[in-house]
Amino acid sequence: MDEMQKEIKRRLIPSPEGEMVYECISCGGTFPLDRFLYTCPRCGGLLRLRDLRFDRLKEVPGPVWRRIFDFRKLLRREALRGIFLFHELIFPIIPLDAVIYLGEGHTPMVRANEELGRWVGTPFLIKYDGLNPSVSFKDRGMASAISFINYMIRYQGLKQVLGICASTGDTSAAAALYLSYLPKDKVRSVVLLPQGKVTPAQLSQPLGSGAVVIEIPGVFDDCMRIVEELAENYEVCLLNSKNPIRIQGQKSYSYEVAQQLAYRTRGLVVVVPIGNAGNVTAIMEGFVDLWRLGIIEELPTILGVQSERANPLVLWRKTGKYTPVEVRPSVAQAAMIGNPVSFPKVAQLVEEHFSDRFFVVQVTEEEIMEGMLVANRHGHVVCTQGGEAIAGLRKAISEGVIPRGGRIVVDSTSHQLKFASFQQMYFEDSFPPEYGIKTREELKNHPRRLPPSAEEIARYLGLKKKG
Ligand SMILES: *Cc1c(COP(=O)(O)O)cnc(C)c1O
Ligand SMILES: [Zn+2]
Repeated sequence: MDEMQKEIKRRLIPSPEGEMVYECISCGGTFPLDRFLYTCPRCGGLLRLRDLRFDRLKEVPGPVWRRIFDFRKLLRREALRGIFLFHELIFPIIPLDAVIYLGEGHTPMVRANEELGRWVGTPFLIKYDGLNPSVSFKDRGMASAISFINYMIRYQGLKQVLGICASTGDTSAAAALYLSYLPKDKVRSVVLLPQGKVTPAQLSQPLGSGAVVIEIPGVFDDCMRIVEELAENYEVCLLNSKNPIRIQGQKSYSYEVAQQLAYRTRGLVVVVPIGNAGNVTAIMEGFVDLWRLGIIEELPTILGVQSERANPLVLWRKTGKYTPVEVRPSVAQAAMIGNPVSFPKVAQLVEEHFSDRFFVVQVTEEEIMEGMLVANRHGHVVCTQGGEAIAGLRKAISEGVIPRGGRIVVDSTSHQLKFASFQQMYFEDSFPPEYGIKTREELKNHPRRLPPSAEEIARYLGLKKKG
């Protein structure tokens, strides 16, 4: 056996290694990973997870890492089936028997329909993160967060945990799902939602998982302030993306995109809707990991998309100054956030690695709805945020921000069905006026009520009798 094969064999099943700490992105202080921390105890800055022994991974050449990850896909080890296939890059200190795998990750990447591509102005790919267990990408981050909690219970003597999050709908669905898998005598699950601002499907999810669901008047940013205060003053585990343990799991999106493209990332553009900016942070961090290890040769361009009604990052790129905005109702409700928690991380990543390859475009509510409806009429299953991303790509192509015809991957962040209520409002023209949406007849659809008669139905369809 040559050296390369030996290395691959030795590393195929990962064992716990590395030395992980919290690291403050502002003052650089590091803190042990023996408790839940969300901000720097010294200066209040945001935290990231850092493996102090990351450089050991550089001893393995990039092409060897590619083979290791590719071979792992063929294994039947349950713990390596999801995001922990990339164990070394996500949470190397967690033993495989503490990993919680509920079916997340390795979501399909499909070629966008050709007619849709013509409408958008370029061929592209869609990665369906709506095909995760709670039908959004948030499961990636919950898989890492809940595996960490499980590790703390099994290996570090943690006795009781109350997991809590604020949510625009999908974080709570994912948190409640994953928490409900852990022992009931040790783990409680609570979610805080802005009353009336999540879809019925999203509300049903944490209820079905048995979480305590608290509704408060206001918008997401209000819920976030309250859980932040709770996390500061009480013994709870905050499961929002402010918790760097979530970001860690969400990096898997980038690892999978790279793997699905056979690690060819030259000229790659990744299109992503931005709300609280946790996802875009994780995507950038993930690609930086791969680039540092020589697994990919080039960092991709990131195209962020926001509604013009919740556009703090658009304004930041335009003016160079960051100011939180007051959001107005948006159908891209999961991204309807005026003061994204992870903004400082985005700013730092852009400055250090993506300064010439980070763009944000804004789209109108009508463009978001049309992006979703047109995509789904062409064989896809995207949600309003996926529609937002597609509409943003269309705009970026028409404005020449992104060259047409390159390698482009759109992040479809959740499933069409979570946001079916917006489709229904569109079809029935029943949008509350504050959305300001004008509908187009040709994109609508309705059930047709007909009598229970083959003849009548044939007549309605204009069918010809067989000769
Ligand atoms: C959470 C969410 C977003 C926004 O992601 P951030 O990490 O908050 O920027 C977009 N789409 C869907 C479906 C989501 O659930
Ligand atoms: Zn600090």
